[in-house]
Amino acid sequence: MSIKEEVQKRKTFAIISHPDAGKTTLTERLLLVGNLIRSAGTVKGKKSGKFATSDWMEIEKQRGISVTSSVMNFQYGDLQVNILDTPGHEDFSEDTYRTLTAVDSVVMIIDSTKGIEPQTIKLFKVCRMRGIPIFTFINKLDREGKEPFALLEEIEEVLDIETYPMNWPAGMGKRFLGIFDRHEKQFIKFNGNEEETYIPNHELMNPEYEELISSPIYQASREEVALLDEAGDEFNLDAVMAGEQTPVFFGSALAPFGVNLFFDTFISMAPAPQPRKSTEGLVQPDHPDFSGFIFKIQANMNPAHRDRIAFIRVCSGKFERGMSVKLSRTGKVFKLSQSQQIIASTRETVDEAYAGDIIGIYDPNAYQIGDTLIEGKANFDYDELPQFPAELYKKVMAKNVLKSKQFRKGIEQLVQEGAIQLFRDKHTESYILGAVGELQYEVFKYRMENEYNVDIMFETIGERIPRWLNPEQKINESLFDERKLLVRDREGNYLVLFQNEFALNWFKQNNEDVELIDLFETN
Ligand code: GDP
Repeated sequence: MSIKEEVQKRKTFAIISHPDAGKTTLTERLLLVGNLIRSAGTVKGKKSGKFATSDWMEIEKQRGISVTSSVMNFQYGDLQVNILDTPGHEDFSEDTYRTLTAVDSVVMIIDSTKGIEPQTIKLFKVCRMRGIPIFTFINKLDREGKEPFALLEEIEEVLDIETYPMNWPAGMGKRFLGIFDRHEKQFIKFNGNEEETYIPNHELMNPEYEELISSPIYQASREEVALLDEAGDEFNLDAVMAGEQTPVFFGSALAPFGVNLFFDTFISMAPAPQPRKSTEGLVQPDHPDFSGFIFKIQANMNPAHRDRIAFIRVCSGKFERGMSVKLSRTGKVFKLSQSQQIIASTRETVDEAYAGDIIGIYDPNAYQIGDTLIEGKANFDYDELPQFPAELYKKVMAKNVLKSKQFRKGIEQLVQEGAIQLFRDKHTESYILGAVGELQYEVFKYRMENEYNVDIMFETIGERIPRWLNPEQKINESLFDERKLLVRDREGNYLVLFQNEFALNWFKQNNEDVELIDLFETN
């Protein structure tokens, strides 16, 4: 098969949601679809304890979770499906965000009983920044939730994206009858614990469905569908591909109901790997030379060897085990012999891979997050990975001052690797760390102790809102204090860590001449 054909077969996506919306349940259903697991309930270590036997880093064992996102893949018909996990909750870290730079589309799960929740908004913003197509699955229709129209309105208003309902529910919770499939023109009947039935629209007039179609719930929903057909937005595939319109599916991951329908439609529409921006222009996914970028580095997966695995998103050409590639940042050439692909909890050796695939390679302490690897003569860098504003801040110091040299070295290296962000207090010069999730602190502490042999202490600063100061403006230091802490980032730029929204707004109102920059919004 040609490289082009291989690329066309690949569908690489991530599922984003707020904790408890049903990501694990839906992922399990999809893996069942792909026949990867025989019974649902084996994806997350937390629930099955399956990861406990793996040799992943100690902290993973202690917590019973996979610290850094992994990849699951399966064959679906002719397609090669790659699902990248985006850890949430207490496992939330910058890795979760970075994973979104390695996918071609995203499935956003919304809990119909809750609507849009904070973590969904954060992850959505990153997708929006990259213009990735977003497909929405509104879950838990087997429970009493918000009205479908209200949910669509909420998505449009809070996330500022147009919605197009691909299907439409008739009732919910105990009154749930099924969904109208607007795409394939059929009704999918919910049969409780039994399998759903697919009834083409023209067969709905058959006498056996009389009870169904005469029910007030069915009729009310039928009218809503007619209203959508007449007055709703048109389906626009170009807008979907540009991330401006999201196709919306209703269903229940647990029942399961509407999952096959959702997956079939989604996977047929989801884009295969696209050309990617680099410093030398667009790189085509079927270009003969291999290239890719590192979006994650996982350390200490095997404590006995203390090895590190760098995760690469393949962007072009054909990856072959044993090939030599150049690290564009340094020009150094590496032979990739110990390539491994991480599938759920098992490691399997991979011999070849194409654009859209994720491979894990042994890192001889040479790689950094965002690095580009290239085969052949060309030299370029893929677009820099964006920095994500930290939300949780802590002061950090070595327990033993005599260890300050190792302390500085450890921080320097871990920060460079992208494990955590570093700032310095303007007045005291003390080290301040920033992260998007608590887990990053745990991993940082563990690695400082185990790799650099330094015990450290944290002093919590708490959740903060970072705003950069315009570098052209003169800084009036007397404006700042503990509640609006003035710090420097690694490049020497000044920023202010505001205690909360109130402090930020108060500052803005009283200091209109000070320009504050929100990197997340303008990126
Ligand atoms: P995650 O945190 O997003 O991975 O969510 P989980 O998949 O672990 O689901 C959280 C809880 O919601 C679990 O108790 C699930 O059984 C439940 N759940 C998931 N999908 C559905 C659904 O469609 N209907 C109902 N009633 N419960 C669901």
